Amino acid sequence: MLFKVKIVYFFILLKLSKWFYSTDFSRLQKRRWNKQVKRLRQSYFYKSNQYSSKKLLDFPIVNKATFMEHFDEINTCGINLKDALNTAINAEYSRDFSPIINGITVGLSTGTSGNKGCFLVSENERALWVACVLDRVIGFSFRKRKVAFFLRANSNLYESVKSRLLEFHYFDILENQDENLKKLKDLQPDIIVAQPSLLLLIASGIEKGNINLSPTQVISIAEVLTPEDKSYLEKIFRQTIHQVYQCTEGLLATTCRFGTLHFNEDFLIIEKHFVNEEQNKFHPIITDLFRISQPIIRYELNDIVTLKNSCACGSKMMAIEQIEGRSDDILLFYDIANNEVKLFPDIFRRTIVLADEIIADYALIQNAPDSLGLYIKSENTNSFANVELAIKQLLLDYNIKNVTIFKITNDPHLVGTKKRRIRNDRRKSD
Ligand SMILES: [Zn+2]
Repeated sequence: MLFKVKIVYFFILLKLSKWFYSTDFSRLQKRRWNKQVKRLRQSYFYKSNQYSSKKLLDFPIVNKATFMEHFDEINTCGINLKDALNTAINAEYSRDFSPIINGITVGLSTGTSGNKGCFLVSENERALWVACVLDRVIGFSFRKRKVAFFLRANSNLYESVKSRLLEFHYFDILENQDENLKKLKDLQPDIIVAQPSLLLLIASGIEKGNINLSPTQVISIAEVLTPEDKSYLEKIFRQTIHQVYQCTEGLLATTCRFGTLHFNEDFLIIEKHFVNEEQNKFHPIITDLFRISQPIIRYELNDIVTLKNSCACGSKMMAIEQIEGRSDDILLFYDIANNEVKLFPDIFRRTIVLADEIIADYALIQNAPDSLGLYIKSENTNSFANVELAIKQLLLDYNIKNVTIFKITNDPHLVGTKKRRIRNDRRKSD
């Protein structure tokens, strides 16, 4: 019961503070930062670094690697990385998702292979997360609603949203998708929460007449939602597709009624590390003004986010045009003068979709500076040649001439992993 009281408390707090500071969030951020900086003394990492000033900009920027390297010193719960990982991994294998150490929820923030991220969330933070989901994602209603939630691994973080008014149904994305569609048909959910790759699968089932669904809300999570997938999904589901942008289980950005993602600047400070000359694409550097079990202070994400100057909703919270994927997926080439040329995934996405309208799906994978693998799913037999030509022309525009494009015949995306259509596989990915 106490947990529910906390949710209500945070729900009201979020609503009131957002309303009160709606014209200028910087004053709210300053107040919350002053409180957070005092709480940070509980963290050995931040205490030992002895920051002479309380200024945010004096704190070091951390990335995922340093964040995990200093996991034990950063967190304020006395939990070490080895125990946290063991607990979270065991939970995934046994599919029993209630891993808690000393009252702290432990979870994995990426796949089961490669460079794992581990997150810690206290009960208060869990209540805040639920309050934020209710305020900005699902919306509060007195009507009972059924939610179909597609996840790679459940977590008691997600279980926390359950209530008498919200009936949660968990769909394991590693399960057979035909089974999942059958379950979905029987359930007839009011709200569907899933990765774009799964939403596309569901939408194609609806388009073919195999499944009939009429959700009132469709929410895209975890993967890049491209503009063309978004408009296809909006056409099939006949509504705005909403998005949630999350990292280490912190709710970074949520969509307004116009479907534009806005950073939650009432409890986050967002710095921008620009990655292009035009200064509209950046890596967000996140400071969470509430989380203390595992402080997120100047945490630089690897995602490429494109800034949107304003949104028709009028919100002063920073708007996002598009999340493009990770910087690791920028493709690298050499031009005829042997200069390195870096090209953003979005350039290839646009080239491919404009080359042939009939394409149902695609992937472009770089293995070497002079080699690209191309996968095209299309009813038109010429699609591959059309796209190949368009990519070659694009590369020529940058004086890149030495690239071979080879055909990938089977869809390289493995169900259960994040779908990345434009991929740089040259470097070890996390
Ligand atoms: Zn908006």
